[in-house]
Amino acid sequence: MRREEAELTVRLKRRELLWTLAAAGSGGLVRLSGRAGAQAKLPRTPSCPDADEPTPAQTEGPYFTPNSPERWQFLEPGMKGTPILLTGIVLTQRCVPIADAMVELWQANEAGEYDNEGFRLRGHQFTDNSGLYRFSTIVPGLYPGRTRHFHLKFQAPNQSVLTTQFYFPAEPDNERDRLFNPKLLLKIDRAPELTGRFDVVLG
Ligand code: FE
Repeated sequence: MRREEAELTVRLKRRELLWTLAAAGSGGLVRLSGRAGAQAKLPRTPSCPDADEPTPAQTEGPYFTPNSPERWQFLEPGMKGTPILLTGIVLTQRCVPIADAMVELWQANEAGEYDNEGFRLRGHQFTDNSGLYRFSTIVPGLYPGRTRHFHLKFQAPNQSVLTTQFYFPAEPDNERDRLFNPKLLLKIDRAPELTGRFDVVLG
């Protein structure tokens, strides 16, 4: 592929990331519509209960691979597992949404295995003007020694990287996992689709 074509492809992929925000009545909610039909309701304004407190950092672990593709859609034909929309808003400590923040996600598959050769269940994206990110993915499987978790990196433009992990409520292994932090629990919604939400505050 020629360089211009490669750049165009990257730009087109970036455009695929964009989604439509439309106010949904007077309930202060917005509905996200994605190409894959992924939808989530998010409060128009984050509640920011702990906005003065940056999201805690966590270890990267041994399975990070740099240079992941830019994408939000991780689902592939034949992929096993329970689909989940992972979404949230990236904020400053003053509760201001951060546009163009890099958000990177990597995770185990439904069998608890990482793709260490390729980029299955790995990718990054940039928040929109509302600070929103979202990934259409699956619930990560369990592997020995850890409770259920996602790995993520967040980086506001020209700022340092926050590496962290997100956890699932009511997981039996949470209390046994020495890395588990209850401040990093996802807020789970089951309707209209399984959604895990986490609003990230960058320090
Ligand atoms: Fe892990």
